[in-house]
Amino acid sequence: MVRTLRLILGDQLNLQHSWYQQRDEAVLYIVAELKQETGYVRHHIQKLCGFFAAMEAFAQTLAEQGHRVRHLTLDDTADDQDLPALIRRMVSETGACQFEYQRPDEYRLFSQLRALQLPVPTAEADSEHFLLAFNELPEHFRAGCRHRMEPFYRKMRKRFDVLMAGDKPLGDKWNYDADNRQALSEDACLDLPVPLCFANPVDTIRARLARHQVDHIGQLQGDLLWPINRSQSLALLTHFCRHALPWFGRYQDALSEQAPHNWSLFHSRLSFSLNTKMLHPLEVVEAATVAFQQDDRVSLAQVEGFVRQILGWREYVRGIYWANMPDYATCNHFAARRALPGWFWTGETKMACLRQAIRHSLDYAYAHHIQRLMITGNFALLIGANPDEVDAWYLGIYIDAIEWVEMPNTRGMSQYADGGLLASKPYAASGAYVNRMGDHCRHCRYNVRDKTGCHACPLNSLYWHFMDRHDRELATNPRIRMVFRGWDDRPEAERQAILDHAQWCLDNIETL
Ligand code: FAD
Ligand code: SF4
Repeated sequence: MVRTLRLILGDQLNLQHSWYQQRDEAVLYIVAELKQETGYVRHHIQKLCGFFAAMEAFAQTLAEQGHRVRHLTLDDTADDQDLPALIRRMVSETGACQFEYQRPDEYRLFSQLRALQLPVPTAEADSEHFLLAFNELPEHFRAGCRHRMEPFYRKMRKRFDVLMAGDKPLGDKWNYDADNRQALSEDACLDLPVPLCFANPVDTIRARLARHQVDHIGQLQGDLLWPINRSQSLALLTHFCRHALPWFGRYQDALSEQAPHNWSLFHSRLSFSLNTKMLHPLEVVEAATVAFQQDDRVSLAQVEGFVRQILGWREYVRGIYWANMPDYATCNHFAARRALPGWFWTGETKMACLRQAIRHSLDYAYAHHIQRLMITGNFALLIGANPDEVDAWYLGIYIDAIEWVEMPNTRGMSQYADGGLLASKPYAASGAYVNRMGDHCRHCRYNVRDKTGCHACPLNSLYWHFMDRHDRELATNPRIRMVFRGWDDRPEAERQAILDHAQWCLDNIETL
C-alpha cells in the first residue's frame, strides 16, 4: 500500500531533510533519471554521470535506512514524455492518495511542478538547504532593482553569527579581499595540495546514456573523480580545510599555466556536493571556522574569503535569480549577438589562457572561478557573445551547473546582460590582468604587451573595442570611467589602429 508518493530530484540529495527523520512504510520515494533532464541543454559527460551516480547512491542509502525507494533509470522512464507524465503514471500505478515534492531551485522545474494537475492532492515542501528561507527572499531582493553583495553578506554574517565579535566583524574588517589578490609565488606552488579525487565506477551509467543516445560534451576517462555521496563529500570538505584553506583567500584569484594541479589550485571543489545538497552550506562554513580556531595556519583573511563565497555570493545569486525570473533568462543589456567560436568546445586556440581554461572545463567538467569569470567569461563579454549561447555553454559544461546559480553568475556577473542588477560593473579585462594574475602569457604565442600586429594579445584590442562600443554607458560608471582617460589621451590614429585590429580578431575569431 502506498499512501504518499514523494519525488526526489537530482539536486535534492539532502539526507538530513526532515522527510527522512521517520520511516513510514506507506511512503514511497521516487528517484528517477529522465530524458528531459539529460536534454534541456547539452551537458558534460561527467555532469551526467555525476548526477546519475549520486542519485543512485542516494536511493541506495535511503533504502539501507529502511525507507521505501524506487530508483528508476532511463530504461524505466524511456516511455514517459516528461516529469509530469512520469508522476501521473506513478500515482496511477501505485494508487497513492497524495503526491509530495520539494520545491525545485530551478524555475523550469518549479513551474512544471506547480502546474502539475493530478487526481490526488499535492503538497510542496521546502528543500531545507539554503540559509535564507524562500519566503524571505522578497524582503532582500526586488525584481529589476540593483542589489549589491557586500551589504547582503554583512547581514548574513550578523544573522548567522559567523566570524563576529558581538556586533562587529572579527578583526574589525568585514572583507579581506584587498589582501587576497595575489598571483602564485614559487613558494606557494610548493603548498599546492594534490586534489582529492574519487574513483567512482560509472560504466553502466555511460552505457545507459549511450543506449538512450544522450548527446554530451567533454570527456571522461575511466572512473568519475567527483564525490557521489555524503561521506565522499565530507572527506572533500575535510581535505579542503586541512590542505587548501590556509591559502584559499590569498590565492583565490590566481591563475597558473605551469603549477602542479593548476586546475584546482587552492579551491575547494565543493560546489557539486553543495549544489546537489549532499552538504549543507552551514556545515561547510562551520568546518572552515572551526579550522580557523584550531589551525594556526588558517588566518582570518583566508577563512573570511571562503565564508564570503558561501554565506555571501551563493545565497546572493540565488536571491537575484528568484527575484528576476523568468525575465532574467532573456536579458541582454548590450544586445550582444555573436556566436561563441567553435574552439570553446575543443580548446583549440593559440591563446594560452583560454586554451587552458577550456581544456580544464572539458577534462574535468570544472574550472575555478577566475577561469570562468576572467578568462572564458571575459572573452565572451569582449567579443559581444550572445548571452543565450554563453548561458547554455556554462550550464552544460560544469559539474556544478544548476540554473539558479549558473545564470546569475553568467548573465549577471560575467556578461553584465542584466545591466547591473547583480554587479556594479562589467568584469572586462585586457591581457594585463591575465599577466598580473598568472604565468599564461609567458607560454603564449601572443605578446601580452602588444595591442596591434599579428602577435598582439587579442584581449588587448578586444578590450578597447568593448570599451569603445559601450563608451556612453561605461564612461559614466564610477568604477570604470578612469580607464577612458588613458584611452582619450591616445592619438586618434593609435586608437583607430587598435580598433581595426580588434575588428580583424572578430572577423577571424576561429583562427585566434
Ligand atoms: P571555491 O572557490 O572553493 O568556493 C567555495 C564555494 O563558494 C563554492 O563551492 C560555491 O558554492 C561558492 N561560490 C563561490 N563563488 C560563487 C559564486 N560566484 N556564486 C555562487 N557560489 C559561489 N557556481 C556554481 O556552483 N554553479 C555554476 O553553474 C556556476 N557557474 C558560474 C559561471 C560563471 C560565468 C562564473 C563567473 C561563476 C560561476 N559559478 C558557478 C561560481 C563559482 O565559479 C563556482 O561556484 C566555483 O568555481 C566552484 O568551484 P569550487 O567549489 O572549487 O569553489
Ligand atoms: Fe592570454 Fe593574451 Fe596572455 Fe596569451 S598573451 S595568455 S592571450 S592574456
